[in-house]
Amino acid sequence: MRIYLDYQATTPLDPAVREAMEPYWSDSFGNPHSEHRHGWQAAAGLDKARQDIAALVGADAEWTVFTSGATEANNLALKGVMEAAPAGRRRLVTLATEHSCVLESARALELRGYDLSVLPVQRNGIVDLGLLEETLGDDVALVSIMAVNNEIGVIQPMAEIGALARNCGALVHSDAAQAFGKVALDVQAMSLDLVSISAHKIYGPKGVGGLLVRPGTPVATQMHGGGQEGGGLRSGTLAPALIAGLGKAAQIAAARMDADRAHAENLWQLMLENLPAPHLINGDLERRWHGNLNISFPGVDGARLLADLRRVSVSSGAACASAAGRHSHVLNALGVPRDQAKASLRIGWGRFTTEEETEKAAEMISEAVAAQRRMAA
Ligand SMILES: *Cc1c(COP(=O)(O)O)cnc(C)c1O
Repeated sequence: MRIYLDYQATTPLDPAVREAMEPYWSDSFGNPHSEHRHGWQAAAGLDKARQDIAALVGADAEWTVFTSGATEANNLALKGVMEAAPAGRRRLVTLATEHSCVLESARALELRGYDLSVLPVQRNGIVDLGLLEETLGDDVALVSIMAVNNEIGVIQPMAEIGALARNCGALVHSDAAQAFGKVALDVQAMSLDLVSISAHKIYGPKGVGGLLVRPGTPVATQMHGGGQEGGGLRSGTLAPALIAGLGKAAQIAAARMDADRAHAENLWQLMLENLPAPHLINGDLERRWHGNLNISFPGVDGARLLADLRRVSVSSGAACASAAGRHSHVLNALGVPRDQAKASLRIGWGRFTTEEETEKAAEMISEAVAAQRRMAA
């Protein structure tokens, strides 16, 4: 039996979510956009899902634009807002620690002639608000900053970021794939105009997510066609089963937010008590989601550690970066030296992780670290 500790890559499906999706794989198979009984039946759950999702961030149902996931939502937010921005606002401001789908969208926009500011972060992974304020001016159309980082778990001060951006008349977007349903988000208090979410990071199915858009925000269509979503903003037949799953996952997350957080914090303590010294933790210790631990074991090779850990699934960085064999741009942005970055593991747990699994995994990681250190000595 293998222990799963890679909750930032994806989470297991909550059984209640699977159950909520069930009718849409069978009887309610209709096209949710069709004007007949089969269509209405398939569309029946869409509005409830919109409400449950929006409620989690203090928004209304009309904000919800369903997408295939957070990658598509981030592409739509960045490209859509920049294309629709007024002539004098050509600058996009973002962070060096963003997810690759934000950074690559930003670079694609720069190639099309838009201005781009990719801000460095502090040593703890948190945005430098002074630097952000200096960068903001009346040429900025959009500030895009993630709420919780997927590699190091740090929580960005979204309310302060939102207020600064608002002050200069810029729109605010947050990639909340790792934050939605886990930490409190409020689109009004944080001045958020666009929020990207993903179902499979909150115990829902893969292949569905959304962009929450403040009504009236100018966003240029990126996917043309039948105009099913957001008043023509995004085309494509909606996936009622996946959306029912996302809605249910949001509903459960709202009810369990405090319990899930307390559980994650408890396992954080337990994990750290059982991992060997010396080690270094990457990312702020306090301002974080405690279901993520990015930790370096000096003198140890992270990639080899992964190979040695035959009964624990952890990662040595973002799933996409490790697939491409690249070094973590996030650890790099923190100023983590190469050898410390190479010695790092990303360990993630959540709702379905037990104390027993945590202790067992920590024991196996400790053994693998000790074995490598013995070999090196
Ligand atoms: C997982 C993730 C994404 C991508 O979401 P998908 O729904 O898999 O496309 C984007 N940003 C962050 C921070 C993520 O964790």
